[in-house]
Amino acid sequence: EIRVRFAPSPTGMFHVGGARSALFNWAIAQQTGGTFVLRIEDTDANRNRPEWTEGIISALAWIGINKDSSHFEGPLMQSDQDAQQRAAVAGLLEQGRAYHCDCDRQQVIARTGDPNRGYDGHCRERGLAEGLVRFRTPDEGATVVQDEIRGRVEFPNAAMEDFAIARSDGSPLFILANVVDDIEMRISQVVRGDEHLSNTPKQQLLWEALGAAPPVWAHVPVIVNEKRQKLSKRRDKVALEDYQAEGYLADAMVNYLMLLGWAPGGDREIVPWEEMVAEFSLANVNTSPAFFDVKKLRAINGEYIRALPLERFIAESDSYLDPAWDRKVFAELAELAQTRVAVLSELHDLLDFAFLDEPVFDEQSWNKGMKEPAAELLAAAEEAYREAPWTAEELKNRLEEVGGRFGLKLGKAQAPVRVAVTGRTVGLPLFESLEVLGRERTLARIAAARA
Ligand code: GLU
Repeated sequence: EIRVRFAPSPTGMFHVGGARSALFNWAIAQQTGGTFVLRIEDTDANRNRPEWTEGIISALAWIGINKDSSHFEGPLMQSDQDAQQRAAVAGLLEQGRAYHCDCDRQQVIARTGDPNRGYDGHCRERGLAEGLVRFRTPDEGATVVQDEIRGRVEFPNAAMEDFAIARSDGSPLFILANVVDDIEMRISQVVRGDEHLSNTPKQQLLWEALGAAPPVWAHVPVIVNEKRQKLSKRRDKVALEDYQAEGYLADAMVNYLMLLGWAPGGDREIVPWEEMVAEFSLANVNTSPAFFDVKKLRAINGEYIRALPLERFIAESDSYLDPAWDRKVFAELAELAQTRVAVLSELHDLLDFAFLDEPVFDEQSWNKGMKEPAAELLAAAEEAYREAPWTAEELKNRLEEVGGRFGLKLGKAQAPVRVAVTGRTVGLPLFESLEVLGRERTLARIAAARA
């Protein structure tokens, strides 16, 4: 039975890299009829907060990893496994696979003369009954990790120190707790970020020492920004919640995240989740860093937005609109807007002209739109529109005619009208917008702009 897991530490916002790992695991669980276990690694009491656990669960639900699914198990709390973890430490001590140590770092450096070297094994044979607990690593040979993505990775044992597995107060450390939990939860495949690869040989030794067959390992590539730096919360927008707030659709986000380090066959970018699940394979995940390309994400999101049935688009948009806006007016503009936004938060600036008493002008747009002979042209347009049948088609024809009188093509003739009515130089198709705005407001705005 395939059992995978996602084991976030609830120490902050939900990172897009975590979301990608979760999705890879979720795809495996669904593809194999297996189970996805959510384990909250909450043992670092100082850095954990309960609301972050809630945040993880709702962020997972947003990307389709739903705790009501038959493939989902959890959430389990690492802290609830404390007794098992302590028992594992006790067992390792008893077998002589681990030992107590009371050296401090300065003493070790004084002995080795090298601050870059790890622990020197000083307490190995001292038989102490207290202190932190270290795992006795082999001195010779190598620990070989067979990674589904990276292949065979060899770690010389001589370079691996006797690492700590529990603090001197007996509390288990991450490296051990993580393994004990995986064993308890019968995890068959550990798919996680490659920042953990250096832990893997140590953890593999722990699996073996605890009498369990190590899982299949897979370390997914790091995610980097456009400067090829590891995505970090200080520099980059990394919280899934922030993308949601900006108006990325869950399906688009899922689609894009799946492409970080993996690609479906045939150079396709827009791929429905079911097809991703059918095709996903760890063997096809890259080892090279995955570039988090916000431009590409935007483009994919725009495609998902345009593919929504109009009703869905209207529903999805609602929370991005000003609550005061008349939803009937929005419904009239929705079809036009749907083709013009890459993220839903752009709807606000695109549409506010239709809801405000007067458009908001900025100097730059004004200067750009109101070039000579703007005033005369607006006067002529006002005249031509006064009695015109109020349809987009007719409004376009009339402005084309007016522009002709000034020797201007429609595109140029539109500019001052657009700025007068919307405050901006770019936006929705103009004549359809005027049709929705109505004669009275259109004429008033044109008059105000030329005054
Ligand atoms: N809690 C660890 C993390 O957030 C999980 C490591 C793992 O997946 O094994 O990075």
